[in-house]
Amino acid sequence: MAELVFPAPPAITVPVAGDKVFPVRRVFCVGRNYAAHVREMGGDPTREAPFFFMKPADALVVCGEDMPYPPATSDLHHEMELVIAIGAGGSDIPESAALGHVFGYAAGLDMTRRDLQGQAKKEGKPWDMGKGFDHSAPIGEIAPAARIGHPTRGRIELKVNGVLRQGADLANMIWSVPEIVACLSRLVRLAPGDLIFSGTPEGVAAVVRGDVLEGSVEGVGTVRTRVG
Ligand code: MN
Repeated sequence: MAELVFPAPPAITVPVAGDKVFPVRRVFCVGRNYAAHVREMGGDPTREAPFFFMKPADALVVCGEDMPYPPATSDLHHEMELVIAIGAGGSDIPESAALGHVFGYAAGLDMTRRDLQGQAKKEGKPWDMGKGFDHSAPIGEIAPAARIGHPTRGRIELKVNGVLRQGADLANMIWSVPEIVACLSRLVRLAPGDLIFSGTPEGVAAVVRGDVLEGSVEGVGTVRTRVG
């Protein structure tokens, strides 16, 4: 094998409950997946099909580390989400088989430079710099579906400095986990290690330096970070 011109970057991994780690390949995110959040962002939940965007895998902030306040924004928002961890790849996965491709689930935060995202929307430009910046994806430990099953309902909530900011139920998701996996697999070939942030409920708002974010998804797990 040819010599590396510099050391390969470290593998990106997320701890799995127990003493194993989940090697991350790609990070996909679903936009507009809770009706009340679509409305708070000025959209119409009855007319919009699911759509996807991405974050780099090395945007993950794992298991309680601080996330630095990012540059180029004065409107950093939290989006509390259920994260789907893919364990078996495939394309054109039917909805009826989709859960068989899911290794497990985690609680995660799709941190968003809302001012940059808003400007991009207005100008018809890509969302990447609003969504895919460094440290934009805090995530907690992954719980295997073999242990917790596949959640279809349960409380999803986020507290900032102990005060409730987002609180909803997974049952309010417009597109279910099988529908999300099936839909995304028609656009790309899913692979083991892919993560899918499944969209946020209503209540998104800004955070400032020093804020402590603590999220939970009932029956799945927690995510915690401090904005440094
Ligand atoms: Mn989101």
